[in-house]
Amino acid sequence: MLSPERLTRFARHIVLPEVGGAGQVALTDAHIVLIGCGGIGSPALQYLAAAGIGRLTLVDSDVVEASNLQRQTIFTPAQIGRSKALEAAEWVRRFDPAIDTRAVVDRVGRENAARIVDDADLVLDGCDNFATRLAVSDACVRAGIPLTSAALGRFQGQVANFAGHLPGEACYRCFVGDAFDADDCDTCAADGVLGAMAGMVGSFAAMQAIRIVLAGKTALGDPQWGKLQLFEGLAPSLRTLKIAKDTECRGCNL
Ligand SMILES: [Zn+2]
Repeated sequence: MLSPERLTRFARHIVLPEVGGAGQVALTDAHIVLIGCGGIGSPALQYLAAAGIGRLTLVDSDVVEASNLQRQTIFTPAQIGRSKALEAAEWVRRFDPAIDTRAVVDRVGRENAARIVDDADLVLDGCDNFATRLAVSDACVRAGIPLTSAALGRFQGQVANFAGHLPGEACYRCFVGDAFDADDCDTCAADGVLGAMAGMVGSFAAMQAIRIVLAGKTALGDPQWGKLQLFEGLAPSLRTLKIAKDTECRGCNL
């Protein structure tokens, strides 16, 4: 049951037939682990917090840099040099103290991914490198946790929901293959990115994550597994690609 104060806060959700009171309770009961509190993660966590997700675990090993401020809008110049995960958790606590928020200052890799995603209902990955993305995806498949994966470069954004633990459904590794496990580049630093694109892709990823939380509970809950939404910002367009399950994939054929 939601308190009168919470009913007022989420009134515009509850009035939607596709969310409703049952949907808002499901959002309140959900635990989302967010990998990366940067360009994608910072707008994503704002909309996850605004949606009333009851538990948020915010994971990032980096500190805020001056060059982040062009797109990571939860941070201010006063926070330069401080931990992104800790500052992001502070942002959430100021915004809604009712959310159970935890910061994890750690880089996610093969050795710790399983522990970090452990009791999540879903993981939203908006990190900046393939090695972490693949480690997170493999850990999610093994633990039976759905994954919203979002990526960004220059003027292009990609968002997809994966459920590689379900029969016939692709995982993130089915999509990108094995070539990138050792890849550790930060493409934003090398290629640049339009800041507004980060806001668009981050909030889009939050919407796709909310869809997963509501799956089986409300009409909005079609999780659209394996459908990659490809947003082009330069000449704006949105395309949908279906990612096929790779029967040889070592991430999801366990
Ligand atoms: Zn796979």
